Amino acid sequence: MANNVLIIAEQRDSILKKVAFEMLGLGAELAAALGGKVEAALLGAGLGDLPDTLAQYGATRVYVADDESLASYSSEGYANTLAAFIQAANPQPAIILLGATAMGKDLAPRLAARLGVGLAPDCISMEIEDGRLTTIRPIFAGKALAKVRLKGDPQIATLRPNVLAAPDPDPAATATVETIAADPGTIRARVVDIVAAGEGEIDVAEADVIVSGGRGVAGPEGFAPIRSLAKTLGAAVGASRAAVDAGWIDHLHQVGQTGKTVTPNLYIACGISGAIQHQAGMKTSKVIVAINKDPEAPIFKIANYGIVGDLFDMVPALEKELQALLAE
Ligand SMILES: Cc1cc2nc3c(=O)[nH]c(=O)nc-3n(C[C@H](O)[C@H](O)[C@H](O)COP(=O)(O)OP(=O)(O)OC[C@H]3O[C@@H](n4cnc5c(N)ncnc54)[C@H](O)[C@@H]3O)c2cc1C
Repeated sequence: MANNVLIIAEQRDSILKKVAFEMLGLGAELAAALGGKVEAALLGAGLGDLPDTLAQYGATRVYVADDESLASYSSEGYANTLAAFIQAANPQPAIILLGATAMGKDLAPRLAARLGVGLAPDCISMEIEDGRLTTIRPIFAGKALAKVRLKGDPQIATLRPNVLAAPDPDPAATATVETIAADPGTIRARVVDIVAAGEGEIDVAEADVIVSGGRGVAGPEGFAPIRSLAKTLGAAVGASRAAVDAGWIDHLHQVGQTGKTVTPNLYIACGISGAIQHQAGMKTSKVIVAINKDPEAPIFKIANYGIVGDLFDMVPALEKELQALLAE
């Protein structure tokens, strides 16, 4: 009987994404409820000891396709390899989890289509009810939560990164490592080059802490105090669409409905009013701090901490205090 949970562990440059560990923690709970085990599939080239790391976070078995043809992510190469492996697996996994990352958002629907099953994307919680996967996912730009149950097997879902804690690793844990065939098929679209966004810049989608600026920064130079605070905190720089549309910062920093969805531990919104479309991308942040000179700004309704004041005074003052704290 199918009762195992398979997580698709994402790596880039042979570094595992944190969401892989978060999925292993969740997958272990789901598998326990089904009387099965949590396993991982890992695709790429030059994967070294990454299977051992997955074992330490709970994978009991790791299926590895380590091949030059999978060195950089391609929708077709990864979907073909995984679909062939899963179709041939006996027993098939009951549940397949991917991270709701850029790769997972591209791969999961393609894989689901190949397997002829549905998909629950961008879930923020999952549990087993009556032996079936039941997930919760935000809809309508985060205004409502949908409870989703899938028909058909295997059940496929993507987990929003950073909403669940990763388990503590057990350095003594080991897993059975099994090689699976790289089966990329004919790849019609190939990545020829990857250009890093900015030297040393942290991607908002992967950051633990984000300092964001909106129209209130009043120009590209207004991002200087935001960047400075972000540097002090080791944070990523985010932005509202108003700031991006004005050409003050690149779109890859945009948070929101038409930007990136983020769930950092700390989100500091500076000069951002908190429009529903912005909230759609950051509402599930664990702690929200808002700095705005308008006490009526909607962002204060969802903020855990609010500072009413001019960001050009408040952000440097906050940075100074934090520098002193960090120096202790
Ligand atoms: C289909 C659609 C998709 C969209 N997608 C997105 C999206 O992905 N992300 C997104 O962000 N928006 C999105 N928007 C736009 C969204 O509706 C808002 O227009 C946008 O978020 C506003 O950005 P803002 O908060 O920076 O600007 P504003 O709403 O103009 O707010 C600026 C804030 O700064 C404050 N302020 C001004 N000066 C200072 C200062 N010196 N110190 C402190 N505070 C100051 C003001 O009080 C104000 O609250 C979308 C809209 C649509 C229709």
